[in-house]
Amino acid sequence: MNSDYPSQRAGLTCPFEKLRPSQLVRDDNFFMSLAFNLAVDAWRVDEVPIGAIIIRGGEAIAAAHNEVERANDPTAHAEMLAITQAAKKIGDWRLNDCTLYVTKEPCPMCSGASIMSRLGRVVFGWGDPKMGCLGGATPLHGLPQLNHRLTAQGGVLEAPCREIIQAYFAQKRQRESGTAT
Ligand SMILES: [Zn+2]
Repeated sequence: MNSDYPSQRAGLTCPFEKLRPSQLVRDDNFFMSLAFNLAVDAWRVDEVPIGAIIIRGGEAIAAAHNEVERANDPTAHAEMLAITQAAKKIGDWRLNDCTLYVTKEPCPMCSGASIMSRLGRVVFGWGDPKMGCLGGATPLHGLPQLNHRLTAQGGVLEAPCREIIQAYFAQKRQRESGTAT
């Protein structure tokens, strides 16, 4: 079955188009659009479509998408890669005056890294009730003894950020059940 299409890969069939936000209004929606476009890039190389950018002084200083499969590295989440890039770029591991935009609420690891890098603000698209640790499943940044205060905000461009992840996994399941026999 389906042997006419042996080279068809889910990674090459992303049905989502990149967003083209106005360059004039650089608000949360604008920066999240850039993160969403990185999620589209992720899908095109068959990675889970999650994108992240870090902004400082109105400029992007880091941009990454999930690379767990390519790097064979469970820590290669978009946020982790972006945080490392940002620290390198500014020559300081403290990211107090930076904002991280990410299409899905950070997992336990990435929420921890956001706190440890002292990010001032984290804005996410889709809140994740299962693994999100900035309020979705649990508010890790609300630990009572923490010195650093991180501001978290969810729900920015929530629909496309959620839909692209759900569609990716739906297509992946379909592909796997199609080739299982
Ligand atoms: Zn993560």
